[in-house]
Amino acid sequence: MAHSGFIPKDNLNSVIEALSKKARLFVPVEEGDLVLFKPFAAGQTMCFSRPANLPPKAVIFPQSDVLFDFNLKKDMENLKKVEVELKENLDFPSTIIVGCRPCDAQGFRIYDRVYLEAGATDPYYKGRREKTTIITLTCNAPSPGCFCTSVGRGPADEDGSDLLMTELPKGYYLEAVTDKGEAVLKELGLADGSAYREEAEKAQESAAKAVRKPFASLEKTPEKLIGLFDDQQFWEAEAAKCISCGACTYLCPTCYCFNITDEQAGSRGERIRSWDACMFAHFTLEASGHNPRPSKAQRLKNRVGHKFSYYPTRYKGVTACCGCGRCIRYCPVSVDISEIVAHVQGAQG
Ligand code: SF4
Ligand code: SF4
Repeated sequence: MAHSGFIPKDNLNSVIEALSKKARLFVPVEEGDLVLFKPFAAGQTMCFSRPANLPPKAVIFPQSDVLFDFNLKKDMENLKKVEVELKENLDFPSTIIVGCRPCDAQGFRIYDRVYLEAGATDPYYKGRREKTTIITLTCNAPSPGCFCTSVGRGPADEDGSDLLMTELPKGYYLEAVTDKGEAVLKELGLADGSAYREEAEKAQESAAKAVRKPFASLEKTPEKLIGLFDDQQFWEAEAAKCISCGACTYLCPTCYCFNITDEQAGSRGERIRSWDACMFAHFTLEASGHNPRPSKAQRLKNRVGHKFSYYPTRYKGVTACCGCGRCIRYCPVSVDISEIVAHVQGAQG
């Protein structure tokens, strides 16, 4: 079975078209100034030259997902008795994502520990995850804000991907990471790519050296964050600029919070899971009116604490931030999470 392949530059579009005949295919597409993952359609302008503004997390974890339909059936002999009919759709189509970055693929590994391995498997996530093949484009040059090497990842990190693709002057070198990736290589019948391996590795190493390093080792950071838990002054200073817009969480490949609502008309309805965000004031608002995290400083502390302390403490030191830099590039007021971590590391106490 093939482990590597090569696509000459001029053939990339025809290979993508061939993939679209095998499964539902998502590719990064230009929409005005944005690059977003969209279902493949002929004639689109695909963009592989920079990371998409939004990661492809919605392909596996939709922004709004109907978990099931329900129908409330009254027993006409006993009006107090209501039978609930549920209709759940767990039949997910085979899907391929092409052109996400290693940090985006890593994002799904952050989700896996929560939705697949924590003892309460989420069937919607599991179904889509198992049916999805991830073909990742390694980064040849870091984008503004990126800091993946500081969180233990890198521009050619393979964890979370099925197939890694590296752009070279003459074409794309492909290397299988999993059986799913090997199956795609085999189906496409690509030329053997092993002659390009060394060139690809050099490109990957040089990209890794170019990534900025905003803070030192994360080894003591979980404890440092706990030490700062009650330092209100520290968190107020860090959150001073924040306007609680929540953009950082919606475009983060590792944020996975959600809310569940029932939308009902008459006796029929749908239970819907939608993305939610700990940066919103109402996220922790309780029915009593009490809010345990009423200030933006407390909410920012939770976001940073979750990624750099609570998650790594629970999951063997793995940081729940893959250093993609999106929250830094697109925060409307330039809050920089990597700068906050550096401040945490430098804080006294
Ligand atoms: S994107 Fe920036 S301003 Fe908006 S919630 Fe996140 S940190 Fe605050
Ligand atoms: S916290 Fe920011 S840098 Fe880290 S994964 Fe999320 S968006 Fe990327």
